[in-house]
Amino acid sequence: TLFSELNISRPIMRGISAIGYVTPTSVQAQCIPPALAGRDICASAVTGSGKTAAFMLPILERVIHMPRTPAASRALILTPTRELAAQCLSMTVSIARYTSIKSCLIVGGSKNNAAQATELKTRPDLIIATPGRLLDHVQNAASFDLDDIAILVLDEADRLLDLGFIEEVTEIVKACPVQRQTLLFSATFSTKVDDLVNLSMKRPLRVKA
Ligand code: AMP
Repeated sequence: TLFSELNISRPIMRGISAIGYVTPTSVQAQCIPPALAGRDICASAVTGSGKTAAFMLPILERVIHMPRTPAASRALILTPTRELAAQCLSMTVSIARYTSIKSCLIVGGSKNNAAQATELKTRPDLIIATPGRLLDHVQNAASFDLDDIAILVLDEADRLLDLGFIEEVTEIVKACPVQRQTLLFSATFSTKVDDLVNLSMKRPLRVKA
């Protein structure tokens, strides 16, 4: 399979070519077609497998076909660490460079809450976040909600749980619309990860990278 055979729109294909991807990795080849079709996917995949593009390409492709007025935040990607969120944002910006998709980073640390709240009010298409800081905004900002989220990604689910984010993740999942697509990626599976799968997904397709 080549990316050009996956039914991806021209502007996104141009972004993929610009970063030098030609052939999808195993996890990408397995995830992209069902994710484009709107299915929930539970994938066993480690860092280095190409998992970021495996969820980001279908997200971008689905989001460019959604109505853009009024502005709405359509996808939420939860990652366990700021570093991972930053890497995810930078890949997204590269792939989406020929589209008008707007992404924002909502993580703890340097950038202050007020600046993030202002950014969230503009309703960026994609929100890439760590759970604690995102939940602060959901609970404290009257003008911000997750009502338009159509696609939720739980990236590195095992690490999200190892780092103690189960309560935050559960609250965030509950704050998203019931009618949505959920994609979950994890290097390892345990009873706790399975509980999160059961909490957040509907009859997910199981993929092993
Ligand atoms: P990830 O597993 O998402 O952290 O990706 C690992 C690395 O593989 C990153 O540096 C990506 O830019 C690179 N990568 C992902 N998919 C592809 C692909 N289809 N072709 C070439 N490189 C890729």
